Amino acid sequence: MKTFEIDGRDKRGPIRLKIEVDNPFEGGGRWLRGGLHSHVAQMGESREVCEHYRNLGFDFLATTDYLSITPMPDTTEAFVTVPGAEVFCPDGDDLTHIICLGLRHLPRPLDGTLEDVSRLVRDTGAQGGLAVMAHPAWSDYSWEKAYALARSGVIGLEVSNRLTWQINGKERSEELWQMLINAGVRLAAIGVDDACGRDGADLDRSARAATGGRGNSGGNSRTPDLRQRGA
Ligand SMILES: [Zn+2]
Repeated sequence: MKTFEIDGRDKRGPIRLKIEVDNPFEGGGRWLRGGLHSHVAQMGESREVCEHYRNLGFDFLATTDYLSITPMPDTTEAFVTVPGAEVFCPDGDDLTHIICLGLRHLPRPLDGTLEDVSRLVRDTGAQGGLAVMAHPAWSDYSWEKAYALARSGVIGLEVSNRLTWQINGKERSEELWQMLINAGVRLAAIGVDDACGRDGADLDRSARAATGGRGNSGGNSRTPDLRQRGA
């Protein structure tokens, strides 16, 4: 914990602000770069896709194709692979998309109701996995819906999604993240490329939208401990 003191002024005169900051970079373990939202099947053969990300300096990659768990190469000491899927309601035009990570089998798709998101989060958790709210800005949630989704058991939300920036500019969700913190809901802030191709633009996106995750404390393990630190 570091403490800073800053002199400033408010309407009534001089003030002194005392700020306490817990700097995660000063903790143990080591920082990893990874992707938690990638349409691997759309990018090519999964071994080649992993190689591609490894060459970009990534330490881990999750596969999150639509309603399908694309088989990935086994995790090695050099590169961790995470089986997952992007789950949504295939009927109708509901834009709720949930990233389910650490899946052993595919959960049932969403039925379009808010309550069913909690069911999906529970299903994912029962498999030892974690669920994340995908691209809230692109999904155009009302505050009421975003607040309900944020309290469904998801561990994080995508504050940055480069693909949705390409689609319609609705990439960033820091404001929602901040509003949720103000309302007492703390979620991990995650940046993803949501890559679905491997052209030059995606190379650029991948490098800029990496998710940070700290490896298990103490050693050199590359296994991201997302449950502990967020991502
Ligand atoms: Zn999506």
